[in-house]
Amino acid sequence: MIPKQTVDEILETARVEEVVGDFVNLKKRGANLLGLCPFHNEKTPSFTVSPAKGIYKCFGCGKAGGAANFIMDHEHYTYPEALKYLADKYNIEIEEEEQSAEQIQQANEKESLFIVTQFAAEYFQQQLKETENGRAIGLSYFKERGFREETIEKFKLGYSPDEWEAFTKAALDKGYKLDYLEKTGLTIVKGEKHFDRFKGRVMFPIQNISGRVIGFGGRTLSADKKTAKYLNSPESEIYHKSRVLYGLNLAKKTIIEKDLCYLVEGYTDVISFHQNGVENVVASSGTSLTTEQIRLIKRYTPNITILFDGDTAGIKAAFRGIDMILEEGMNVKVLAFPEGEDPDSFARSKSTEELSSFLKENAQDFIRFKTSLLVSEVGKDPMKRASLIKEIVNSIALIPDPIARSVYIQESGDILDISEQALMSELNKVRRNTLSKKIQNKEREEKREDFGVTDDTTFLQEKPKPQEKPLIYQEEDIIRTLIKFGNQDVEIPKEKDDDEAIVLTVAEYVVFEMEEDNLSFTHPLFDKIYALFKTAVESETSVVENTLVSNEDKELSSFAIECLMDKYTLSINWYDKHQILTLKEEEILQKKVHRGVCSWRLTKVQQMLEDMQAALKENPDNYESIYEEISRLLQAKKALGNELGRIVLR
Ligand code: ATP
Ligand code: MN
Repeated sequence: MIPKQTVDEILETARVEEVVGDFVNLKKRGANLLGLCPFHNEKTPSFTVSPAKGIYKCFGCGKAGGAANFIMDHEHYTYPEALKYLADKYNIEIEEEEQSAEQIQQANEKESLFIVTQFAAEYFQQQLKETENGRAIGLSYFKERGFREETIEKFKLGYSPDEWEAFTKAALDKGYKLDYLEKTGLTIVKGEKHFDRFKGRVMFPIQNISGRVIGFGGRTLSADKKTAKYLNSPESEIYHKSRVLYGLNLAKKTIIEKDLCYLVEGYTDVISFHQNGVENVVASSGTSLTTEQIRLIKRYTPNITILFDGDTAGIKAAFRGIDMILEEGMNVKVLAFPEGEDPDSFARSKSTEELSSFLKENAQDFIRFKTSLLVSEVGKDPMKRASLIKEIVNSIALIPDPIARSVYIQESGDILDISEQALMSELNKVRRNTLSKKIQNKEREEKREDFGVTDDTTFLQEKPKPQEKPLIYQEEDIIRTLIKFGNQDVEIPKEKDDDEAIVLTVAEYVVFEMEEDNLSFTHPLFDKIYALFKTAVESETSVVENTLVSNEDKELSSFAIECLMDKYTLSINWYDKHQILTLKEEEILQKKVHRGVCSWRLTKVQQMLEDMQAALKENPDNYESIYEEISRLLQAKKALGNELGRIVLR
């Protein structure tokens, strides 16, 4: 029992934003902080922390509470455990009786696995440092690898004696149950006999984000080719390979600071990097990268650089995994080390400065890299070229941000020597297909869930009529641009030589173009958002981001938050670091808006034409008036077509 006085002290001291901030990358939004909810999968942040109120609340899944609740929910702790965690974090002493063996057994199973694993980590460390064999075999191996004392300490490296059951015996002697030793995979039980899984290996403890040991990797020291070089803990109640990144607990602060995460292959790469001054590094260790691992990184940064050994085969094998990262809306770079080097060997042979400048100078944007690599392989073979173009467009199509997509289309067009328009139309085809697949899947899922009852109130769930799909896409692009850049100035090019160039905000520009033929948006959500901008422009004010983000219409606010997150993750972190892209973005903004509105108007006009033609069939008597309308529309269509032909995004 923790005395009530201490409980009060803990709760008064713990700052919700600091406690949550250890697990979630929070960005300031007015008086609150905002981040991606750690309790459910989301692409757009709806997890809000209010330092003033001392609470967090997720507007997506509804989880809410104070600092202690967060730790309970996130770490699956009991209330007392959460309090202990907080006390530890804030250096508050808890006077409490030591737990008896009985109490240990009573603790829930998961906690028992944590305790056993923690014991094992300490045991292996102690073996490494304090026993003769440990020092002679394990420690000297690490030293030979160039690991320094403090590095060995930092990563809690250890040694498991080369005996059949040295560890298991020690654990049983201490009162740990065989059941837990088996469940954590530390001990292999065969009938009456038990064996240490990691016999004679140097040990790399794997920690979760809060630093608790959940499993191990063990490297053999024997030269025998038949023994696996690395052995890992099996999956357990506390260790799920697909949800863990080695080194993340030590890297998270630096990842946030540098706004970048390096991804390497294994334990030794992570450790060598740390030792050489690069701390924003994690490894997916033993598995290929999973979506869960990507989302783990995304909580801290949208920027990821994947480091590869010197051969291109490895990189090509990873293309698929990299597409998953693009799909999460992250910015991916790749970096290949020189032939025969891996991150570990390279880091060891270079100085801190050499390593960091190598990383800075050699990271290449993934799409650019992929395009150049494939181009160099394919040459001029037309069949191969066609599939190459598909391959690249497929990757670009996964990127959620429309501006990033169009920048990539331009660049790949240059490298491939293909017109941007051709690529763009290929891209739109792919995106339309994926969207309709997504909608179908979603519908299928929902049917399964609610036995046929579907809710079609939100725009993704709503099934557009087939011919409306492109229209909704175009509307979405216009609205996204409005939300992201509505208040930014653009210069409208002169039409004739004697005209003066005028400067308008994007919002004014869109509204003026839209009102020209008095059209309205098809989709209710987009129409509503447009109306806000229209009112603002007409009253010569501007739309404040906050009125969108905290709009009482939840669908509207979450759409706006999504767009603005795009803006903040992409525009600020990414474009600004790469001046070239910033320039291009600015350059194309006016054209993009103009083209967006024109193509939308063209689609609208086309629809009206079809309506008129249908009306004509039904009502041949009204021929005169209908024909007049049709010819007006045909004229508009032609003008818009011409206008669109003139706008080339370059
Ligand atoms: P060497 O000294 O021969 O280079 P190494 O210990 O550096 O051996 P590598 O074969 O170079 O190991 O592999 C690099 C990294 O890949 C290691 O740090 C390890 O973490 C990871 N790795 C390799 N094989 C496995 C495996 N089977 N399971 C988990 N991780 C592995
Ligand atoms: Mn190696």
